[in-house]
Amino acid sequence: MTAYFCPATLDEALAIRAAREVEIIAGGTDVYPNRTTRAAWGQMTCRDLLDLTAIPGLGGIEERDDHWRIGCLVTWTELLKARLPPLFNGLKTAAREIGGVQIQNRGTLVGNLCTASPAGDGIPNLVALQAAVEIAGPPGRRLVPVEAFIDGYRHTVCRPDEIVVALRLPKRGALDRGAFRKLGARRYLVISIVMAAGVIETDATGRIGDVRLCIGACSAVAQRLAPLEERLLGKPLDASLADLVQPGDFATLAPLDDMRASAAYRLAAAEALTRDLLADLAAGERRRAA
Ligand SMILES: Cc1cc2nc3c(=O)[nH]c(=O)nc-3n(C[C@H](O)[C@H](O)[C@H](O)COP(=O)(O)OP(=O)(O)OC[C@H]3O[C@@H](n4cnc5c(N)ncnc54)[C@H](O)[C@@H]3O)c2cc1C
Repeated sequence: MTAYFCPATLDEALAIRAAREVEIIAGGTDVYPNRTTRAAWGQMTCRDLLDLTAIPGLGGIEERDDHWRIGCLVTWTELLKARLPPLFNGLKTAAREIGGVQIQNRGTLVGNLCTASPAGDGIPNLVALQAAVEIAGPPGRRLVPVEAFIDGYRHTVCRPDEIVVALRLPKRGALDRGAFRKLGARRYLVISIVMAAGVIETDATGRIGDVRLCIGACSAVAQRLAPLEERLLGKPLDASLADLVQPGDFATLAPLDDMRASAAYRLAAAEALTRDLLADLAAGERRRAA
């Protein structure tokens, strides 16, 4: 039988985590379907559950001096409703397109990150936003850059005695903006075939001062497009940006060849989505994410 723990404090949760093997649960929208799938394959034993949702202080989005802090219980719906700068437009677009409204009401951004699925829609956005993951454990708290947090296929560096308590997203200039494009077999309630997320920062002359582009669902872990990012630096933020995309920019991706799409299709889609993403960033993505 599976034991179910629902502690009222983080200290209590950490003590449970340190004492026994438990599976953390936030919204449960990944945990429960995975259990059902495993049971269908004959794996009937499950780890005990540690539900975080009764712990005060793990929710909420806060603006701090140099970063935004998103608590680990913040749901996609809460993200969507929050007043956030255009930098978060990509993350908000992802929030609107994840599952259906019921999933958005229960599922959390941190749960999406901790599942570490190659198709997790939040992950490329968090990479583009240069998020840091705040982890609590027996020795105290540590911060891990999101690119180091996922260290393999569906695997993270969060240890069995630790809990992710929040994400920290560095503040940028008022005009800096993000965008997100997702390709699935249909518009909603669909797993991504390819995703592209990006954040663009402009300098005083209106040219690109910094840019981070990230492709998801085309490798075990979401990948930045470093050569393309470098080529975009210093360019004016206009519709011609999309012309700078080259097929070679996607050479480091290693997409799956499966029933959803062939590897060749995924590579072609990554290129097309990146062009669309740059066009969105140049046009200003505010209308879709408002
Ligand atoms: C019908 C349906 C449609 C979906 N559509 C999409 C989609 O379009 N795009 C997409 O990306 N995903 C989709 N999902 C997957 C899922 O809804 C999301 O990944 C969601 O964000 C997971 O959040 P959660 O709070 O429910 O996570 P949970 O299921 O509670 O947890 C997920 C994982 O994270 C771990 N975890 C959770 N919180 C913490 C923490 N604080 N510290 C450490 N570990 C933690 C858990 O142990 C578990 O391994 C869908 C799921 C369903 C059932």
